[in-house]
Amino acid sequence: MHDGFGRRIEYLRISVTDRCDLRCRYCMAEKMSFLPRKDVLSLEEIAILADRFIARGVRKIRLSGGEPLVRRDFMDLARRIGRHLDAGTLEELTLTTNGTRLADHAEALFDAGMRRINVSLDSLDPDRFAFITRGGELARVLAGIGSAREAGLRVKINMVAMRGFNDDEFVPMLRWCAEQGHDLTLIETMPLGDTGEDRTDRYMPLAQAMAEIGAAHPLTAIPYRSGGPARYFTAQGMEHIRLGLITPLSDNFCAGCNRMRITCEGKIFMCLGHENYVDLKDAYRSGGIAAVDTALDRALIAKPLAHDFAIGPEGTHGATRRHMSVTGG
Ligand code: SAM
Ligand code: SF4
Repeated sequence: MHDGFGRRIEYLRISVTDRCDLRCRYCMAEKMSFLPRKDVLSLEEIAILADRFIARGVRKIRLSGGEPLVRRDFMDLARRIGRHLDAGTLEELTLTTNGTRLADHAEALFDAGMRRINVSLDSLDPDRFAFITRGGELARVLAGIGSAREAGLRVKINMVAMRGFNDDEFVPMLRWCAEQGHDLTLIETMPLGDTGEDRTDRYMPLAQAMAEIGAAHPLTAIPYRSGGPARYFTAQGMEHIRLGLITPLSDNFCAGCNRMRITCEGKIFMCLGHENYVDLKDAYRSGGIAAVDTALDRALIAKPLAHDFAIGPEGTHGATRRHMSVTGG
C-alpha cells in the first residue's frame, strides 16, 4: 500500500480498547466516559480487518489502547493475529502496555509470537508514579516487566518527558534501563484530548533532556531504525541499550511516516494529529470485505503530509479532541 505522497504503508497500530486501569495525567482526564461496547469492534471484526491489512501488505502490527490487557478477550486476539507470524505473512506483532497486568500475561504473549513489547514508565519513584498515573502502583508494573523478561520478551520503556513531573529522572531512568537491559525511548507530550490540565507548562523539548543526559553519559547517534519515528543514540558505557527520541513537536518526522492507526471503533485515522477518518466498521458491517477495501483506498489517498501540533509560549496549536487512548499510542 502507498499513500498519496508515495509513502509505503506497512505498519498498523490497532487500539483494541479505549478503557484503561490508569489515568495518566498527560493522556486522560480523571473522569472519562468510555465508548459503549456496541461501538467497539468485536474481536472477530478486529481479526478480520487485521487479516485484510496483512493481505494488502502490512508487515508489522502493534496492539495498543487504552490498556490492551484490560480487554477480556485480548489474548485470543493476539493468538489469532499471531498465526500470521507462523505463516510468514506477518513479520512482527507487538504490544504497548502500562504493565499493570503483565505478570499474568507475559508467557501467553510470548507464546502468541510476541518477542518485544513497549511498557510505559514515567517515573521510578512510587509516589510520583502514583501521582502521574493517578493511582498506579509502581511495584506491580516493575514485577510485570520482570515477568516479561523471564518469559523471553525484550522490553522497551516509553517515558513521556514532562516538566515539573519527571524532568529530574532522565539520567536515573537511563541508568536503571541499562542495569536491567531495557531500551529507553523518551517522548514529547502531544496535545491529544482533554486531560483536565493545561499541557503548555508540562511540555519540554527533548533537546533539553538530551543535553542533560549527554553531560553525564556522552551520546552517539546510531543509524538504527525501528520502523517508527524514533531517532536512536547510544550512551557511553551503556552501548548494550538504545536510547530513542520521539520528537513530534520539536522536530517533525512526518516525511518518513509509514503507519496507519485503527481505533477501537474501527475508524482509520491516517494521522494522530488530524481529525479526518475513514470508518471501516461501518464499511465492514454494511458491505463486507469489498467495502473495507474501497474504504482503505480512500484512506490512503487522504493521509495528510504532516500533523501541525505546536506547544509554545502562546499556547497549544493543532490539538485534537481525541485522546491517545482512543487512537492507540
Ligand atoms: N496503555 C498503554 C500504555 O500506556 O503504554 C498503551 C496506550 S498509551 C495511549 C500508548 C503510549 O502513548 C504510552 O507510551 C503513553 O505514554 C503515550 N501517550 C499517551 N498520551 C500521550 C500524549 N498526550 N503525548 C505523548 N504520548 C502520550
Ligand atoms: Fe492508560 Fe496508557 Fe493512557 Fe496511561 S498512557 S492513561 S496507561 S492508556
